Amino acid sequence: MKLLVINAGSSSLKYQLYDMTDESVLAKGLVERIGMDSSILTHKPTGKEDVTEVSEILEHTTAIRKVLDKLVDPECGVLKSVDEIQAVGHRVVHGGEAFKGSALVTGDVKSEIRRLFDLAPLHNPPAILGITAAEKNMPNVPQVVVFDTAFHQTMEEKVYLYPIPKVLYKKHHIRRYGMHGTSHDYVSKVAAEVVERPLEELKIITCHIGNGASLTAVQGGVSVDTSMGLTPLEGLMMGTRSGDVDPAVVTFVMNKEELSLSEVNSMLNKHSGLLAISGSSSDMRDITDGMEAGEPNATLAFEMYEYRLRKYIGSYAAAMNGVDVIVFTAGVGENSAVVREKVCENLTYLGVELDPELNKVRSGDPRRISTPNSKVDVLVIPTNEELVIARDTFRIVQENK
Ligand code: ADP
Repeated sequence: MKLLVINAGSSSLKYQLYDMTDESVLAKGLVERIGMDSSILTHKPTGKEDVTEVSEILEHTTAIRKVLDKLVDPECGVLKSVDEIQAVGHRVVHGGEAFKGSALVTGDVKSEIRRLFDLAPLHNPPAILGITAAEKNMPNVPQVVVFDTAFHQTMEEKVYLYPIPKVLYKKHHIRRYGMHGTSHDYVSKVAAEVVERPLEELKIITCHIGNGASLTAVQGGVSVDTSMGLTPLEGLMMGTRSGDVDPAVVTFVMNKEELSLSEVNSMLNKHSGLLAISGSSSDMRDITDGMEAGEPNATLAFEMYEYRLRKYIGSYAAAMNGVDVIVFTAGVGENSAVVREKVCENLTYLGVELDPELNKVRSGDPRRISTPNSKVDVLVIPTNEELVIARDTFRIVQENK
């Protein structure tokens, strides 16, 4: 079965075409600047030359039509006909409490995703645009939705509730949901394969650290705690997000600086984190370069980032009463040897012993970077959220045949 995975943003749309007979990627690409006159479509067919095309793409339906045109193009295409695509899988950020797993798209499912707009105002509306656009272009093809939050629906009440008036949970569903679920799910399963032990008996801490960053405590294969909350703002210090701050900072700053709700929201989401402390960049490569050059603000940004990450690892070891495996994944986790080194340097009390040479190896494969003596296996596992979406889509379409 061939299926298309779509990740729709408000002005962008990423896609990957899978052949599920061997889980190979036939083509992938990205449409950027949707809604503008110079939209850019970058199409990367496997085994053929990449193509970039600039044109006016005003909405998502046109974006998907252009993608389908490219997939069947005689030069850069990989399909004879669009009819070969037998299912479409969509990434949706927020599934609230309604979705504990992936689902076949129906009218009710779409209504529920719309009801969750309040909880994910930036993320769920574009997902609906993507679903509607795919339905218009491929009306008879089953569509599946895969949620970032679903993996964390196993968290217990004591973990997901905030200690605030309970009426707010009842009225507005204010609770912790967590994000990056597909990634935490995927890397924890791969981790069990790498250490050759059953997932059911492992205590794993998965560190998904990219631009956005979250940690999950995975015990027996299920998420028991995760660092993002109602929104992706909670938890670790990130590229441009603050992560945890005293909630009183918000009202204090609003009062002192006369900021509106949207201004303070933007401050915490877009102008904080590494960017705010370094004063120059949200990108870990620039931060570590700055640190090597002796730049004090970059050094402070790095130290705060590493310290907060390490504290969360310690708290999740406490939450699970131990840890067998620590996994690093996503942009920073997969690529930054110095972040891994500094974090692990101060985890010796857990019995963590990093192999400095293995830590420096650059590879796209899952690998162990701890010594054979280390009490905790430390792994680097490249994440693959699209593959999880493809696998879930395949499974759900089979189940509903
Ligand atoms: P997103 O959260 O947008 O999916 P990614 O997981 O792709 O992000 O991570 C992007 C981040 O990864 C970049 O902002 C950068 O900070 C970091 N990164 C990428 N390559 C490296 C590298 N070689 N060294 C350090 N950090 C890196």
